[in-house]
Amino acid sequence: MTIKQVHNYPHDASNVALRVWQNAAPDLAERLMELCVFNRPDSRGGYWRDDTGEYHVTTRKSTDRNWTPNDVATLSRHFMAPDHQDLVGVHAINPISGTSRWGAIDIDDHEGQDIGGNLRKALMIREAAADLKFRLHLFQSDGRGGIHGWIYFDSPVPSERVYGMLKKIVGNDFVETFPKQPSIGPSEFGNWLRLPGRHYKRAAWARMFGECGWLSPDATIDAILQIEPDDARRVPQYKVEIPIISRPVYQGHRSHFAESPETLRSWLESKGVEVKALKPCSNGAVRLILGLCPFNPDHGDGRSDTSVMVVWSALGLRFCCLHNRCRAYRWVHLREKLDDAYRSRRRC
Ligand SMILES: [Zn+2]
Repeated sequence: MTIKQVHNYPHDASNVALRVWQNAAPDLAERLMELCVFNRPDSRGGYWRDDTGEYHVTTRKSTDRNWTPNDVATLSRHFMAPDHQDLVGVHAINPISGTSRWGAIDIDDHEGQDIGGNLRKALMIREAAADLKFRLHLFQSDGRGGIHGWIYFDSPVPSERVYGMLKKIVGNDFVETFPKQPSIGPSEFGNWLRLPGRHYKRAAWARMFGECGWLSPDATIDAILQIEPDDARRVPQYKVEIPIISRPVYQGHRSHFAESPETLRSWLESKGVEVKALKPCSNGAVRLILGLCPFNPDHGDGRSDTSVMVVWSALGLRFCCLHNRCRAYRWVHLREKLDDAYRSRRRC
C-alpha cells in the first residue's frame, strides 16, 4: 500500500500533526504490522466516551458485534483517527504461546510535573536497554510529560523473559512495564498499551525522541518507518522475582519450607519429588510443576506434562494432579506421604 489513501476525516487544516499522521497512515500501519505489534489476533484495547464526556478504556474482543480484525486497515484507522474512537491498544502477551513480540515502559506525567525528570528517567532506562543491545524507542505519550518506550523483537520471546528484562532495566523506579506480569492464564487478556499516534483525550500526537531531542511530526514518522526489530535471542534469562509474602505465624511456629516457592521446591526435592518448573500465576501464586506424580507414577511423565503440581501461595499450599485417580488427594495427603514426622504427629 504505497499510494497515499485519500481520507474522509474532517480536520482543521492548521493541524499539521493530524495531517501528517493521516497522510502517512497506510505506511505506518504496514510498518507496525511488520513489527507484529499485535501479540494476539483476538483482542485489542480501545476507548469509549459516556454521556457525561468521561473516557473509558475497554478490551475489544473478536466475539464483539462490531469487531474488525487486527489488521493493516484497523491500524490505518488508528493513525487516521481525529479522536479516541479508532485508537488501538495492543496486548502485551499471547496467552496461548506465552510470548511477546515487544516490551514497553510507561512513565506517567503526574499532571505535567517534572517533565525534565521524566525524560532523564527515560534516557537512563534507554541506556540500560542499550547495555543489553536493545533499542528503546521513546515517544511522548500525551503531549505533556508522559513517555512510552518500546522495544521490538524480531521473533516471539517468552513473556516471562521480557518481563524479567524490563524489571531489570527499569531498576527500582516506579515505572510501569508491559508485560505487567510474567504470564497470564489461557482465558485472561492481561494489559494493553496504546500505540503511538494521537492521545485519546487531547489533540496531541506522539513525538519520538531523536539524537538531540523530540522530533517534529514528519521526522517522527520517518523514524517510525525506519524502526528495525532487535534480535530476540539477546533477551537474557532473568529469574523472575516473585514477591515473597511471609505466611502468618500459627501457634508460635512456622513451616519454614512453605515460606517461598524456592524453599518449597528444595523441601520437595529433599523428599525425592522432582520439580520441573516454577510458573508464576498473575495473582501472586506460583505453580510448582512436578515430575512423576507421588501417588501414581504413571502421571506427570515427560518434560511437557504439566498435569501434576503443588500451588504455592502466601495463604497456603495446594496439591493438584489432574488425573482422575488422584482427584481426592490434597496437600495434607501429599505431606503425610512425604513427611514421616508429620504423619506420626497426625496419627497421635
Ligand atoms: Zn496423579
